[in-house]
Amino acid sequence: MPRIIAVANQKGGVAKTTTVHAIAAALVERGRSVLAIDLDPQASLSYALGLDDDADPSIHDVMMGRASIDEILYDSSGIDLAPSTIDLAGSEVHLLTRTGREFVLQRALRAIADRYDYVFIDCPPSLGILTINALTAAREVLVPLQAELLTRRGLGQLLETVEDVRAYTNPDLEVTGAVITMWDSRTRLGREVTGAIEEAQQIRLLEPFIPKSVKVAEAPGRGRSILDHARTSPPAVAYRELAASLDGPA
Ligand code: ADP
Ligand code: MG
Repeated sequence: MPRIIAVANQKGGVAKTTTVHAIAAALVERGRSVLAIDLDPQASLSYALGLDDDADPSIHDVMMGRASIDEILYDSSGIDLAPSTIDLAGSEVHLLTRTGREFVLQRALRAIADRYDYVFIDCPPSLGILTINALTAAREVLVPLQAELLTRRGLGQLLETVEDVRAYTNPDLEVTGAVITMWDSRTRLGREVTGAIEEAQQIRLLEPFIPKSVKVAEAPGRGRSILDHARTSPPAVAYRELAASLDGPA
């Protein structure tokens, strides 16, 4: 059975896509088979994995019920990518009128998930029907968090959504934990906020935290993750360690 992991946070710019790409790449380095599903109409993951032009067909066609995931896959440096395009924004509207709309991705995954050790779903920055589909299809949620203020209320909303998904569509969903991204250990603010999250016991903080580094921003658009782009940089090392701890003893 594959581990199906949704990477979700309704806030944009917290490193969801970066985290999916880096952990997926690290798991491929470890010899695992990985499917990465881009479920964001902004298609940042598809771009980062080297797709220059709009994919056709794409995950949009899967969500519309006119293609299987098999038919849309791209191989990107050993990661199987189910790409997205801006059209995906339109499937939100389409899904709203459909019975069983929460289960479209879960059903589509059923046919192929067994081929993989890991399936990652890169969520859009909202708690709409696409993220609900991801949380319904997944067994686990990883929550990238930037250690800054405002994080606490946003996290509460996300965890409420997880509770709703458990109650209505996916009782087995588990929150694996938070990935602290763009970590700057020198700032007091960061320490205070991570302390506050832990105090409130809202979510387990996974280790290591991912350090902030300009190297990360240089990586996308070449089909290379931070792991290839700056192999020994602190974030690359941290993402590898995080992937190893997710993966467990070899
Ligand atoms: P999201 O998918 O949550 O919107 P992204 O993964 O696209 O977030 O990241 C947002 C921005 O932050 C990108 O420009 C990315 O390059 C940058 N970024 C992500 N992780 C780091 C890091 N560890 N250090 C510095 N910049 C980062
Ligand atoms: Mg993203």
